[in-house]
Amino acid sequence: MKRLRLETHIRNFINGHYHEPINGMRVDLIEPATGKVYGSRPESSAADVNLAVRAAEEAFPAWSSCGINTRYAIMNRMADLITANSELLVEAESMDNGKPRSLARLVDIPRAEDNIRFFATAIRHDASEAYNMEMGAINYTLRQPIGVVGCISPWNLPLYLFTWKIAPALASGNCVIAKPSEITPLTASLLAQIAAEAGLPHGVLNIIHGSGPAAGQPIIEHPKIKAISFTGGTATGKRIAATAAPMFKKLSLELGGKNPNLIFADSDLEKAIKTTLKSSFANQGQICLCGSRIFIERSIYDEFKERFVKKVAAMTVGDPKDEASNLGALVSEPHLEKVLSYVQLAKDEGGTILTGGERVQFKGDLAGGYFMRPTVIEGLPHTARVNCEEIFGPVVSLIPFDTEEDAIMMANATEYGLSSTVWTSDVSRAHRVADQLHAGIVWVNCWLLRDLRTPFGGVKSSGVGREGGYEALRFFTEPKNVCIKY
Ligand code: NAP
Repeated sequence: MKRLRLETHIRNFINGHYHEPINGMRVDLIEPATGKVYGSRPESSAADVNLAVRAAEEAFPAWSSCGINTRYAIMNRMADLITANSELLVEAESMDNGKPRSLARLVDIPRAEDNIRFFATAIRHDASEAYNMEMGAINYTLRQPIGVVGCISPWNLPLYLFTWKIAPALASGNCVIAKPSEITPLTASLLAQIAAEAGLPHGVLNIIHGSGPAAGQPIIEHPKIKAISFTGGTATGKRIAATAAPMFKKLSLELGGKNPNLIFADSDLEKAIKTTLKSSFANQGQICLCGSRIFIERSIYDEFKERFVKKVAAMTVGDPKDEASNLGALVSEPHLEKVLSYVQLAKDEGGTILTGGERVQFKGDLAGGYFMRPTVIEGLPHTARVNCEEIFGPVVSLIPFDTEEDAIMMANATEYGLSSTVWTSDVSRAHRVADQLHAGIVWVNCWLLRDLRTPFGGVKSSGVGREGGYEALRFFTEPKNVCIKY
């Protein structure tokens, strides 16, 4: 199995070839753990997107009609190449994003491989519906690929989310124009090598690098790109919807969150605390599914607080390469500043910082890195800005509640509705609360336990549409009903 080359002079991948951006513009890439430049990427424009769309259009007839077994075989080879090069991908993801290598090894890279294999296999089990009519007619539904589609992903789980979109799009027979986040393009550029090596025909997957306004917006605006799968912030999602909706594009928008954890007095507190540490601070709190508002039943509030804060204070912030690091660096300096500004806001709003709250300044190689202590706040009402706005960093807030109704009311009191976590040993309560939470995903006595067959997405300002399993295959196909009278 071929070894990939780690190239830090990143280029676009169009029609099976590597290209400099047509405008010649490049931007430096910075390693979050050191603050130092490690490479550069294209700042592409509409001209590169146009070139990619032409290639994708040409590739579409053959790719959409080559048959599921061919697509299955090529995509499985892509998954095999991820497995064969997993350690290189782990190192690249960690260097680019700042996340601990241990996390990339456990979550990001295995999941990228799984995304591709899952959808490669899913198309072999897919079926469409048929409806017989008593008057002597039968309807059946064809699900046909859309054509050229756009996939745009954020920086927090770079290869994981990039492949989560690209895999169902390709498996369904579409050709893809994909843009990773401008600040974490490294593993996406390795995916180009993987596609080429696996024998994906030229033009089927095109990867354009660049910022949202310069390279992302032309993807949204391009009239030949018929569907957009986007994951990112709610403000960007609104902008994308405003551009794409009047063009009647299909849209899947996976957006921000401000997820609640509800911890009832009847829960297994040891398990709840252990998992809440992860749901609060995994990937430096930069996972859309992290729980940042922790509601605790008042009778156990003090005990939870004492035990939780002690464990948070003992977490290790350090070199992402170091196996002992629980948290690595935040993704960029502006993002670190944004997160720290919310700690200041918490103080201004009258909150108390129980632990953390400050930047970590290392010496030596890591002196310029964007590190921060995991932070726990208390004493703010559920309506405070800190408890309503998405911070997307290692900052959580503790809030006591008295009744189940109060907990549900406060959990639902934000504009977001992505995921929720409930801790209880009362089965009836688990069902009752899950039913009433405004969220696309509810975890009970667990967190981030993912079955790729399940629908994934949010309600309210957390998004429109669902990814995962057949939902994703349906998004990337157009249903056509055929009615035959016999
Ligand atoms: P972002 O700023 O919205 O960017 C996401 C992607 O969109 C990036 O590739 C970005 O390019 C691109 N983009 C920006 N403006 C665009 C435009 N006008 N047209 C087309 N593309 C454009 O989000 P982020 O800061 O990277 O990621 C963090 C956010 O993602 C958080 O809000 C988090 O909750 C959310 N998220 C949601 C989920 C979910 O499944 N619901 C999962 C992960 C993350 P640039 O590279 O220039 O930014």
